[in-house]
This record gives sequence, structure tokens and C-alpha cells, in this order.
Amino acid sequence: MEKESIKSYWNRFKAKVIDLKNDNKNFNKIMISIAAVAVIAISFSAVNTITKAYSVSIGEDVVGTVKEKEEALTVYDEVKKELEDTYDAKIELEDEITFKKTNVFGDKDTDKETLEKNIKKQINFKVDGYALVIEGETIGVFKDSAEIENILEEVKKPYTDTKDRKSTLKEVKLLENIDIQKVKANISDISDTEEVLQKIKDGKEAKKTHIVEIGESLWTISMMYDTDVEKLIAANPDVVPEDLKPGDEVNLIVPQPLLTVVTVEEVEYTKELDYEVTVKEDESMYNTQKKIITKGTKGEAEVTANEIRHNGVLVEKKVVNEVVVTKPRTEVVAKGTKEPPKTMATGTFMMPTRGRLSSPYGNRGARMHLGVDIANSVGTSIYAADGGKVVFTGYQGSYGYMIEIDHENGYTTRYAHLSKILVSSGTRVYKGQLIGKMGSTGNSTGPHLHFEVLKNGVNKNPASYIY
Ligand SMILES: [Zn+2]
Repeated sequence: MEKESIKSYWNRFKAKVIDLKNDNKNFNKIMISIAAVAVIAISFSAVNTITKAYSVSIGEDVVGTVKEKEEALTVYDEVKKELEDTYDAKIELEDEITFKKTNVFGDKDTDKETLEKNIKKQINFKVDGYALVIEGETIGVFKDSAEIENILEEVKKPYTDTKDRKSTLKEVKLLENIDIQKVKANISDISDTEEVLQKIKDGKEAKKTHIVEIGESLWTISMMYDTDVEKLIAANPDVVPEDLKPGDEVNLIVPQPLLTVVTVEEVEYTKELDYEVTVKEDESMYNTQKKIITKGTKGEAEVTANEIRHNGVLVEKKVVNEVVVTKPRTEVVAKGTKEPPKTMATGTFMMPTRGRLSSPYGNRGARMHLGVDIANSVGTSIYAADGGKVVFTGYQGSYGYMIEIDHENGYTTRYAHLSKILVSSGTRVYKGQLIGKMGSTGNSTGPHLHFEVLKNGVNKNPASYIY
């Protein structure tokens, strides 16, 4: 009921009372009515007056009543600004503020504090965000696109320091398709930078590790998980296998990061250039012979190359420029064509007889044993260990009957204590030719062959030369 209508009702009531003053029958009834109206009138005057106002709603929910729309709009804006300050982001309120005409008794409109509290309670908002999308998949949402740029820089960082490789960084890029998309996000959807960095580093496959126990090695761990040692080494570039100790953590899976940092580095280095070898046939030489006519020398080139690395691992090397500093010199080799005679040394020795090794080469008490002794029965065949020229046959003191062959390649062999000599000095023998018979002549305690190998006149252990 409005002010005006109460007044007019009162006037009409007064007129009615005057009209009915003389009607005793109804007088009491009327007086009761007067009393009732008076009570109502007194009540009205006590709560002041009724005024026009607006019921304020956020979305579907009423948050208060105001006399002027401005009051609510100011609070609404203040709430928005406060949210922006709190979250340091551009806020978009999801629910419209709406007004509906109403009436209010005196001071019964909503005070500012309550209104603000109610608006905050009802408000839904989104922040302006930027999504980092890698190969079509959203990896994180950030309030600022600069944060994404920072993350990408952080990912590249470990691979852009090329000091250790003494190279010049020419290019850094990411292999994957990266998109930064503007999105409206709930504040709870905003990502943590560190978490996103870790997610990129760990990749899709979940990290799996093993804690080393006493007695374990990369090999035993590889057996345990049915993998290869090589794979474990690749998954643990920082682990030195020999230094592995109990309590150490070993990665079981090679991390496949979500991002691949591609670097192009220019390197300069000196390269050795191999020389070529030209072979010239020589009819005057045996086909087993070779002679260097001109010694070859290696050359040198200054090389500039681009090294392409994926997350630090070299995947390609492209030579950009190569300048020959020193040319290599071709080696010229003469190679014989003649078939060598059978009696020519082959360069290797065969076992000169059959029997058991009764005394090895080396110190034997006070004296040095200059050969090996092979014992068997008297008359056992003795063969030339390699082809050559017989340079001595005959009795030679403690050697007894002995043969000496010069293999004409720096080597000489001696066969001693023989019972029979079947070749004569000055003749040529071939490898494996029967040259004598085993005996026990000279300083000997039983039938055996004393066999010596000399290189340029110096005794060597025959055991090292017999094949
Ligand atoms: Zn001997």
C-alpha cells in the first residue's frame, strides 16, 4: 500500500463516521473499527515510509535490494576489480547483474557490505588465459602468454650453451607444432609453471625408476626388468656404471620429452685426409713381395660443419665448407708378379718334428736354454721349419750333429743332436722338407731335437713363432 492511498482511505473513513454518528445500533461496531484503523495508522507512522527500490540479482539469485541501481553496479565493479587484483588476471564475470522494480520500507535496503558479500558468493567468473598446445594437446593454461614463452625458453636452455663443444649456435627451434591459444579458464585450471616444465621433461611415458641395492649393477638390473644394458645407459646419461652404489636411483625408461629442441651448431675442426695407394706391378719381384717406392703422407683439411642435435644428441652433420690445407701424398707400392720358389721362406714356422716338449726355452739353472727340446725316438724325421738356405751342417761341440738354415728374411733356425743329416750346406730347402733324423749326439741325455729360432742373430723363444 502506498502513502497516497492510506491518506484517502482515512478521509473516506472520517466522512463515514460523521454520517453514522446518530446510528446507535452501529456505533459500537464503528468505534471498534476506528480503534483498529488507529492501530494500523500508528504502526505505519512508526516505520517511516515506503519507497521505490530495485531487487538486485546475479544470474538467478537475488543478492539484495537497492534504492539506486548505481549502488549495486559500483559494488559489482568493485568485486570484479578485487578479483582481478587477487588473481592478477583479466576477469570475465559470467553472470549478468539484473534489476527488478520493488518497494522497500524505510531503511530496509541492503547495506553495501552485505551486498558485496552476496555478490561474491553468487558470482561465477573466468579469467583470460593462454593455453600451451603441443601437437594438438593442451599441456597447460596460463594467465599470461609471456609465461608460455618463458617455459619454452626454459626447455631450450640446456641445449643452447655450446661452450663445451666449442661451437657457434646458429639456430634453435622446437620440432613439435606449438600453438598458443587464447582461452577463458576457471581460476582452478591455471597451471603451475614448474609442473608443466616437469611434464614436458618426463614426456608421455610415466617415469619408472629402480633403487639400487647391494650387489646390483646395470647388468643385473637390466636382467630384472628384461631390458638391455645399452637402454639403461641411454636412460641414465649421468650415471657412471662403475660408480653405481646402493640407494642410487636408476631410470628404467628413456624419457621421451614432449618437446624436442633442435639446435644447429657450426663447428670448425681439422680433418686428416687419407692418402691413396697406387700399386705398380713388378715382374722382377715375387708375388709375395711388396716394396714401398714412395711413402704416402696424410693431408689436412679445415672443415666447417653444421651439427644438428635433438635434445643435445647429434643426429646429423652437414659439411658446409672444406678447405684442404695440406694435400695427401699418394703412396706408390711395387708388388711382384713372379711365383716364388718353393724354398723361399713363407715367414712362418711349422713344428720341425713330432714328440713331447721335454724342456722349454729360458733359464735352466745357471745356464740359459736357448731353444726348445722335443723328445722322441732316435730316427724320428726332422723337417725344415720354413724355406731357406742351409748354411751349416756338421758336428758342432755340445750341439752334436747340427743343421742351420738361413731363411733370408732375418730369421735363422738350428736343429741339433741329430743322428743323421740329409742335406748339405749351400743347398736350398723348402718348408716341411725332410732334412735329418733325431738323435742324441753332442751334450744330450736322450734322443731329442734341440730347436732354436734366431732373429737377426738373437735367440728367441721358438714357442712364440711356431704356428
Ligand atoms: Zn736343448
